[in-house]
Amino acid sequence: MNKDIATPIRTKEILKKHGFSFKKSLGQNFLIDTNVLRNIVDAAGLDETSGAIEIGPGIGALTEQLAKRVDQVVAFEIDQRLLPVLKDTLSPYDNVEVIHSDVLKADINEAITTHFKDGQDLMVVANLPYYVTTPILMKLLELKLPIRGIVVMIQAEVAERIAAKPGTKDYGSLSIAAQYYAEAEKVLTVPASVFVPQPRVDSAVLRLTIRETPAVDVIDEQYFFKVFHASFANRRKTILNNLIHNLASKEQKPKIEQALAEANIDPKRRGETLSIEEFGILSDTLYRILQ
Ligand code: SAM
Repeated sequence: MNKDIATPIRTKEILKKHGFSFKKSLGQNFLIDTNVLRNIVDAAGLDETSGAIEIGPGIGALTEQLAKRVDQVVAFEIDQRLLPVLKDTLSPYDNVEVIHSDVLKADINEAITTHFKDGQDLMVVANLPYYVTTPILMKLLELKLPIRGIVVMIQAEVAERIAAKPGTKDYGSLSIAAQYYAEAEKVLTVPASVFVPQPRVDSAVLRLTIRETPAVDVIDEQYFFKVFHASFANRRKTILNNLIHNLASKEQKPKIEQALAEANIDPKRRGETLSIEEFGILSDTLYRILQ
């Protein structure tokens, strides 16, 4: 059998054979280190009964490692030029389905129903295109897919923001949005040298373990999202001022002060000091008083 796809030599051969040139605009940085790939697959805790959903298989480096480990892989690839490449590189594996689609437009639930068994253990595992990291992750979380979790290679800086705890410089609306749906942890930092071409930013592997129920039980989910987004709109402003300017209006100041008092939150605090639980209480209190 051929050597692994994710070696510098094999990758070079594949690119040459198919006359493939990288498109920077599609975030094409391919992994050329099988150890890193095995670590990613290990972090997903998959076995031969599991299913894996991949986003952006590229020339199949990660897809191959997943195919060796799990029952079935479904991979969404936007770049049509990669379809014949993948057909070639993944020909030894009969448990891979490549779907030619922009994952942001794809019907992922439909793909899950079509290609996986009912109740099968499912994980999303990917080396994400960095230009759309956040929209992809938020789509995966908001869809409330029947998956156990997500293990992704992303920019280290974004991984730190997603996994950040209250009171730290990285903690913000992205931390709360992700942690509302999942437990987040950075599992690995990765040097740029494991990619071709090398990205200009540091990378990290992030694991999101989907919660059985969201971190807080709120009256209105959309309103909760509005409240914490408003609270972080200007990081230097107090929670009171951010809520006045970004959620309500000056006339509603007394009501916002009342809500903060009822939620036991000092109006002079800044958004970055509030826990997700405090945002949950604040959101419900504001909802009752303002709506
Ligand atoms: N998985 C491969 C690896 O690890 O070597 C390639 C990863 S590369 C960082 C990102 C891949 O995502 C590329 O193959 C790119 O064409 C694909 N891609 C970019 N935008 C996409 C989108 N919106 N939907 C699906 N695939 C996308």
